[in-house]
Amino acid sequence: MNNADVIVIGAGASGLMCAGISAQQGKTVFLLEKKSRPAIKLSITGKGRCNITNSKPIREFINEFGNNGKFLYSAFSKFFNTDTINFFEELGVSCSLERGGRYFPKSNNAYAVVKALIKFVKRKNVKIIIHSQVEKFVLENKQIKNIILKDGTTYTAKNYVLATGGKSYPLTGSTGDGYKIAQALGHTIIAPQPALVPLVSNDQHLKQLNKLKLKNIEISVIANNDIVSTLFGEIEFTIFGLTGPLILKVSSKVYSLLKEKKSVEISINLKPALDDKQLDARLIRELNNFGNLPIRNMLKTLLPLQLIEPFMKKNNIKYTQKCSSIINKEKRKKLLDSFRKMKFKIISTRPIDEAIITKGGISLKEVDQKTMKSKLINNLYFCGEILDIDGPTGGFNLQAAFSTGYLAGKSII
Ligand SMILES: Cc1cc2nc3c(=O)[nH]c(=O)nc-3n(C[C@H](O)[C@H](O)[C@H](O)COP(=O)(O)OP(=O)(O)OC[C@H]3O[C@@H](n4cnc5c(N)ncnc54)[C@H](O)[C@@H]3O)c2cc1C
Repeated sequence: MNNADVIVIGAGASGLMCAGISAQQGKTVFLLEKKSRPAIKLSITGKGRCNITNSKPIREFINEFGNNGKFLYSAFSKFFNTDTINFFEELGVSCSLERGGRYFPKSNNAYAVVKALIKFVKRKNVKIIIHSQVEKFVLENKQIKNIILKDGTTYTAKNYVLATGGKSYPLTGSTGDGYKIAQALGHTIIAPQPALVPLVSNDQHLKQLNKLKLKNIEISVIANNDIVSTLFGEIEFTIFGLTGPLILKVSSKVYSLLKEKKSVEISINLKPALDDKQLDARLIRELNNFGNLPIRNMLKTLLPLQLIEPFMKKNNIKYTQKCSSIINKEKRKKLLDSFRKMKFKIISTRPIDEAIITKGGISLKEVDQKTMKSKLINNLYFCGEILDIDGPTGGFNLQAAFSTGYLAGKSII
């Protein structure tokens, strides 16, 4: 029999949570997954370590999601970060707290989290049906009558949950199917776009800079010569551009600026810990110490080796130029400015396939935040990344997936 009380579509973080919670309420639940196993994306999260949640208090947590964060208040009120920690602890996965409030399983293994969730749903007798790609919903009087799979199989339930995730990392199964299904049902889709994605630059020095990490620096996003935002932290160079925590953080902003046809640059302040007076004093000392030696020798005391040649080329410093030649105030000021503004022109973001998160999705105006129920279709619910919600790195997105999954599971009567 292909009949159930609840059918959850997508066995990712949110779908597994929703299916288990709904079954815990006494429902017969089918969990349909198009791939050969559940939670492939979850198994690669946090570079294979799974940053499961964050310790921030609820208000600050919500702020991390920007304007749409308020939508999560009800879900977080029912199931929040400490609930997540306890939930996994009970399933045998203890977590530890790291820098930035981030929680990881003590085993440092995302598979442990996947296995725990599968154990949870199996204990509750959820039937996981793999290789089941849902293609279509049959609608009758604002009510879903049944769903049809790619292979033609039909399933029927009293209630349905779309937990098909976003559009990024499509090999994990998240290919945006849910957007098409929901749109066909009349839901509005806020155009999906990449978020937490590396940036592409056409700078000629990238090959030399490839894999260089810069810590404790400050970046500014510059659009049409105006500073849009400034952040402190870490970046990494790649062969095609820039990545690392700071870059991912500003990436969706950069995406929007580029879409508005603005000219975008990332400007790096290489010495944010020193004010101009302190940096100048340091330059005077080093320039005097190195006297008649080339500037490149002196730069070794101030910059990582890999950065020196690109830094010199970008600032027109000749290979043989001596320290003594720039000791005067005016030339020193130019050198000081070079430390403050090492600029990289940004021409695009990497494609959505490589984004950690999809920004956009089901319009929140059409979903009841207290239940995760569709406001348009009587027996349809949503949870996870398919919703128009995206947070930064740090465990925020998985918590949103677990919390919305929990709330949807609890709300289905
Ligand atoms: C590389 C990477 C690292 C990340 N690291 C972290 C991290 O450390 N911490 C954090 O908080 N967040 C992290 N995220 C984000 C986080 O993984 C996602 O936000 C979260 O997995 C979303 O869960 P979900 O259940 O909504 O969707 P998904 O996990 O994407 O699951 C959706 C499921 O639906 C299935 N599906 C899709 N279409 C159909 C269909 N038509 N029929 C049947 N099944 C279908 C898919 O196969 C998939 O299994 C990371 C993301 C990536 C890509």
